[in-house]
Formats: sequence, C-alpha cells, structure tokens
Amino acid sequence: MKTHVKALVVGGGAVGTSIAYHLAKAGWDDVMLLERDELTSGSTWHAAGLLPYFNMSYASSHIHDYSIKFYKTLEEETGLNPGFSVVGNLRMAQSQARMDEYMLYASTAETVDIPYEWMTPDQIRERWPLVRTEDLVGAIFHPTDGYINPADVTMAMAKGARQRGVTIERRWQVDGYHWTGDHWDVTCTKMVEKGGNLIASDEQIVIHAEHVVTATGNHAQRTAKLLGIKTPAIPVEHQFIVTEPDPALVEWRKQHGEHPVLRDVDARWYVREERGGWILGPYEDGAPSRFRYGVPDSFRADLFPLNLERIEQEYMDFIHRIPSTEEVGLKDDFNGPICYTPDGNPLIGPAPGLRNMWLAEGFSFGITAGGGAGYYLAQMMVEGEAEIDMASLDPKRYGNWMTSEYATAKNEETYPFLLKLHWPDEERPAARPLRTAPAYDRQAKRGAQFGQVNGWERPNYYGPLDAPQNYDEETNSFRRGGWWQHAVDEAKSIREGVGLIDATAFTKHIVKGPGAEGFLNWFTTNKLPKVGRINLTYALSSAGTTRTEYTIVRLKDDEFYLVSAGAWTAYDSDYLHKAIEDKEAEFGRIEVQDVTTQWGVFAIAGPKARDVLKAVICDADPETALSNKRFPWLSARQIELGMCPVNAIRVAYTGELGWELHHPMEMQNYLFDLLEKAGAEHGMKLVGARAQNWLRQEKSYRAFGTELGRDATPLEADLPRFVDLSKDFHGKAAMEKIGIRSTCVTLLIDGPDDADPWGREALYDMDGTRVGRLTSGGYSVAFGKSIGMGYVKPGGDAVGTKLQVKMFDKLWPAEIVEDSPYDPKNATIRIDG
Ligand SMILES: Cc1cc2nc3c(=O)[nH]c(=O)nc-3n(C[C@H](O)[C@H](O)[C@H](O)COP(=O)(O)OP(=O)(O)OC[C@H]3O[C@@H](n4cnc5c(N)ncnc54)[C@H](O)[C@@H]3O)c2cc1C
Repeated sequence: MKTHVKALVVGGGAVGTSIAYHLAKAGWDDVMLLERDELTSGSTWHAAGLLPYFNMSYASSHIHDYSIKFYKTLEEETGLNPGFSVVGNLRMAQSQARMDEYMLYASTAETVDIPYEWMTPDQIRERWPLVRTEDLVGAIFHPTDGYINPADVTMAMAKGARQRGVTIERRWQVDGYHWTGDHWDVTCTKMVEKGGNLIASDEQIVIHAEHVVTATGNHAQRTAKLLGIKTPAIPVEHQFIVTEPDPALVEWRKQHGEHPVLRDVDARWYVREERGGWILGPYEDGAPSRFRYGVPDSFRADLFPLNLERIEQEYMDFIHRIPSTEEVGLKDDFNGPICYTPDGNPLIGPAPGLRNMWLAEGFSFGITAGGGAGYYLAQMMVEGEAEIDMASLDPKRYGNWMTSEYATAKNEETYPFLLKLHWPDEERPAARPLRTAPAYDRQAKRGAQFGQVNGWERPNYYGPLDAPQNYDEETNSFRRGGWWQHAVDEAKSIREGVGLIDATAFTKHIVKGPGAEGFLNWFTTNKLPKVGRINLTYALSSAGTTRTEYTIVRLKDDEFYLVSAGAWTAYDSDYLHKAIEDKEAEFGRIEVQDVTTQWGVFAIAGPKARDVLKAVICDADPETALSNKRFPWLSARQIELGMCPVNAIRVAYTGELGWELHHPMEMQNYLFDLLEKAGAEHGMKLVGARAQNWLRQEKSYRAFGTELGRDATPLEADLPRFVDLSKDFHGKAAMEKIGIRSTCVTLLIDGPDDADPWGREALYDMDGTRVGRLTSGGYSVAFGKSIGMGYVKPGGDAVGTKLQVKMFDKLWPAEIVEDSPYDPKNATIRIDG
C-alpha cells in the first residue's frame, strides 16, 4: 500500500469519491482515498437519491448545476450507469407566498442558466391526473433534474477516479493526524470484520500526505476531535417510507411515463415513484439529532427504527395530494442519519488553523451536492481558488464560540425548515439569544428586533416598544415585510437628523510589532495610512480576488487596528494568522490579536451627529473638538465621551456625517445611556442593520459577502482608488492577469409598489438578453424607489444604461446610475461644524 501521496481523501461516500475523482481530473496524479468500511457505507447507501436543482443559495445552485450535468456524463466515461432518472422535479405551491419564493429563486436560477417552467394547477392535473390540484396555486417544474441511484453514482465516480490514477483503499480507518510543518502524517488502522462488527486490528500504517481532505459524513465530530478543531456538522434523523404498489399508478404507467419527483413543500414532503409504489420523504418537526459525541462503534450501515407517529401529518397530507394512495400499504422504511449544519449548507474549504487540511463535511444533500462540491473544492486545492465564491460554505463561518449544544439546537431547527418558506427576512429562533453585547437588554426594551450574525444578536430594526422577539413573524414576506416602514423611518432619521447603529459585531484585530508595517503593506492593496488616519483596503486571495475588506486605523508607527465584517471573524482571523506565520521571517516580529469581543462599536450618523457628540465630549474646546480641522474625515482619535474612553473613527457606512465609536465593551451601557440622553435633544433614533444596508447602497459602498468576494477582484468591484498599483502586494499579479470579467454597478429600479429586490435577481438589457445579476437590493429613501447593486458584463456598465430587473417573473425598468448616487461628492460626510 502506498504511504506517500499528494492528497489523501478520507471517506468513501458520494462526497469523498467525487473529490478524489476531481482532484485527479484537475491534474493531481497521486491521490488516495481511504474508507473505513465499504464505499457508500455511510449515509450515501440509504439516500433517496433526489437531485433537485432548487436551492436558494447562489453558490449551492452552481454546485447542484454542476452535479446534475456531470452525473449525466459518467456512463460514457466509465461504462457504469449511475441510474439517473431524468424525470424532473415538480415543486408545488399552496400559497402566493410560496409562488413568490419560487419567483425569487427562479430569478437567481436564471443567473446560473438553470432551466425551469411554470405550471398552473390545470396543467398539472392534465399531465399528472393522480395529483389533486384544486388547492394549489401553481408550481415550478425543473425538467432536466430528477433522481439517481446514490450507490451507483458513487461507484461510477470511484471507477472514473481509478481510471484517472486514484488509489482507493477500503477497510482503513484514519485514527490520527499530525502536521509535521511540511506534510501530514496520517495514522491509519486496518479494520476487520468480526461477528458482523467492524473492529480495529493491530495493523497500523502512517501515510505521508501533502494535503488531506476529510469527507467523513456522520463521523465529522470524531474527525474534528482528531484534528483539534470544532465543527457544527451533527446528523439529524431523516426517514422515508416506501409504499406497496399503488394500483392507480401501475395502471396509469401502462400508458404514460414516470411522474417527476413531486414536492408538496407546504405539506413538507417529497415523493417519487418506486416500482409501482411511492417513496415518501417528510421533513417533519421533532426529528432528533444523533451522534453529537460521535458515532458508536457498533453503528455501520445501520438504520434507526421508523417513527411513524412523527410523520403522521405529512403522511395524511400525502394521501390528500395523491388520493389513490389511501388504501396502499407500507412496504419498507428508512430512518438514517443525515448530516446537518446550523444554516443547512455544507462546510467546504480550508480547516480553521490548519495547513493543507480541507474539510468537506456537513452535507444534508450530499448526493445532489457531491459532484459540484468535488469540482469546486478541487479547483480551490489545485488552482488556489474556485471560480465561484465559496465563502458562504467556508467551514470558518462558525467561530470558536460555537458548541455542540448550539449546533444540535440549530441543526434540529434547520431540518424541518428545509421545506418551510425561506423568507428572506426571517430570523430563526433556536439557540438565541446567545452572543449579546451589554446594550442588548436596553435595545430590546426600546423595541429592537434582532437578527443573528455570527452568533451575535444585532438589531435589524426597532419595532413597537416592548414587542416580543419575532412579533412580526406573521408579516414575513418576499415583498415588503412588517419591518419595512420602520426601516424607512430609521433610514430617514440618518439622512435628515441623527441615528445610532450598533455595530459591535464588527471583526477587530490588532496587528503590531516591528514587522507589522511591512507585512500589512504586502498583505493589503491600498497605501497604509499615516498615524491617526484610516484607509479602506483589501486583502486578496492568492488568485487575486477579494478575500477580506478592512478598514485600517494606524494607531502608532508599528500598530494597526483592523476592522472587517462582523459575520466573518474566524474566517478573517485564520487568513491573517496564516499569512503572518508565512511572512514573519521576511518582515520581522508581528503580533496579532483578535479583539472583537473587547470592543463595542456604536456608529452615530446624520447631519446632527456632531451636535450630539459635542454635548458629551470632554475637551477643552468641545465646539471645535469634532471640527474638520481637529477631526478630519478619515481620521481617528482617542476621545472621552463622559467617563468613557472612545477610539473614534470619522467614517460612516451610511455615507452621512458620522463617527464610529469603538469603546471598551464593559462601558457599553454607560455610553449607550449617555448618547441616548444627549441624542434625545436632537431627535436621535436607534437604527438597525436593515436601514443601514439600504443607506450604504445609496453610497455604492460594497459589502463583503455580496459585492465583495472570492469571485471578483477589487478592480472588478470598481474600486481602483483603494488599489495602489505602484506597490507590490499579495495577489497583485493574479489580479492583473484576471482583467475585468464583469463590473460592479449601482442601479435605481422602478420595481413593484410593494416590493424591493433582495439582491439575488437577474439583470437583463432592453432586448431581454441577460447581462448580469444583482448582489444587493433594497429601498432608497433618498430617491423614493428601489435600489440595487450588482455585476454586469464589461462594456455594459455605462452610467445611464437602461436595464431590467427580474422580480416576480416580470422585468422591471432600472438604470445604472453614477457611483454613490446620493451625495456623489461626499459633501455631507465632510461637512464642517
Ligand atoms: C433517509 C435519507 C435520505 C436521503 N436522501 C437524499 C437525497 O434524496 N438526495 C441527497 O442529495 N441527499 C440525500 N440524503 C443525504 C445524503 O445521504 C448525504 O448527504 C450524503 O450521503 C453524504 O455523503 P458523504 O460522502 O458526505 O457522507 P457518507 O456517505 O456518510 O460517507 C462518509 C464516509 O466516510 C467514512 N469515514 C468516516 N470516518 C472515517 C475515517 N476516520 N477513516 C476512513 N473513513 C471514514 C464513512 O465510513 C463513510 O463511508 C439522504 C439522507 C438520508 C438519511
């Protein structure tokens, strides 16, 4: 057996097998896959094999699209038929809100070129008369997907991998990982069968691997323990039942083709044909998590007992939808572990804190996602980056604050949510509140309705006083929800008066030491600021795309304060630490410290922001302390607000006169009270994240995770002023080589009266040709209409270009406007006083 490989893939399910195949296809010729038991003996063997295109995430849509197309090519390549039944997927809707969800999805699907059709209830009945339709509003139909045989597709990928030189070894379990500083020494134990059990033998070997990928399915917790990291991948029970043949179906099939996979999403089940009967898969409430502390040794390709009681409602609804099933008995059942994560998306990418260690864990749709996950992960490993932005799937989106208790609660919540309405403005309640800054209680008393970002509770907007959390659940909408008017009032308060935003969740790092300046100069694209000044800058991936956006404050010659997006603390921290480790020898000693939880942040903004601060600043001359002369725009100063020492930064993400007030976390309540009292005289309003998101679009401020990500360079984001091409920086050559594939623009949109775009919609030119997509959307109080930001093809980005935005299956007029359509000259931000 080989003991030296370039890449070792651990786990022989659909995911690991696809990764091994794609690494070989991408050109790595020394790849090995280890499986502790038999290929497909994990969750893969008992999957129902459905391959639905439908997915609300842009990255996952690409992944599913790749899988579906790739699986269709496997037979030709390998001679093995993966059992792909291209019967299509019919997703039914019982309400207009559900149709709204499909229309939002469809607009995103168009940006990925996913084919779909709309169907009316009459059309459904005409084509598939066994389906009851009188209580349906409509459906979306994907004609080119369907279902596959999970074991056969895995075996076909395994054969394809072997043909490309991959070694696959079964009955070897990985039991230890040791990073030598240069490669991984992976300890593996030969597994043997004894009395039906799989047990460890005395035979062990150590494999020397440059790279390791773990795709260990339900064993993710054990893998994490072996690696000394944390992962929220914990399985939940998922069951499906198989019925006896349904005589009506058998009769109908004599003359007709197979039914598509049917989804009565509002009743929370899927159904497909199986040998004259049906497979019914419900996503019921109350499915428990499993294996929180690891998979017991005795559990192999096993199942849990069926819990029919739990799925009674879904079963009744199935009979309602396909009445011929009323008399049909049950033939078989499957209740197996299905791995979940708190947001339902898999964890794909570099492991936190480790070198050359890649995770592919937490797949709840691993058959559908396997092909694409392998393809894009192989791109990341071989070429340095995938062609799509994989940040939303990165394992580091959960920080060290995450525990198995949190993951269990969230995963159990996410499971039934799979088929619940995916409101774009929903906030799910499980495991909350968890990370709260001191002012949380005060904000709650003032009506704050919180959202969760990276575990933090952050006000989305302020509703009625003393309203319970999620009081507006009933008004969640794909259009303007119950929160919309509150956000309008808050946005106006910043444009016209003064508002206070809690930005405590921001990620904050201190980078200091003799090597700090040289390092940051190399690490980021912009010139470094002088002491007391700030700049906006980007750290690039090695592929030249945007890895992180930083606001850098220079505190001293050799000390810098880096502020980045709140959702990405562990993600940013990991990149920074690894880069420093790599470069310390070259630049000199560098210290880095994550101070996110030590510093709270309030952002005060609006024409009256200075008046509020003047009332509380301790200064020999409060009248001039905040003037342009003493506190210019884009500068930072240590000030005192009452008894609170504050590192104040004169920037405002809302584009209005304003300051970020970074303060010791333990003094937050004191500062909140002080500002609230002083603000009352000027009508200061508390403002949430939703209004802030609209306001930043009026200023064309790009946001990380939307306009900024690993699929575009800062030049494509049209930010050349923050890229100093006269210096050398990490990723520069790659960025220049990429050129401009698409350009970021801002649009004003004449959309429907009751809705704004969410930032996932397709963009068309006036001839109806698709030219790009929105990455952000919302409402502009300054212009009284919808606003959005997005990417269009180069050459089509001129100011004044008329475009159309696809919303609710219609095209709505839009126009590309100049960058920063509100106050393009930054006059209000720089106003003196
Ligand atoms: C009832 C049910 C129905 C489902 N239906 C669908 C569906 O219709 N469509 C869909 O897309 N998904 C479906 N799923 C989910 C799907 O089964 C999983 O997402 C998918 O199988 C995950 O594949 P994987 O390769 O990540 O994990 P697995 O298939 O579990 O493979 C992981 C492998 O790693 C091996 N391993 C673990 N630790 C080690 C180690 N230390 N050393 C060596 N080997 C190790 C295990 O033995 C295992 O074989 C369903 C799940 C269930 C429970």
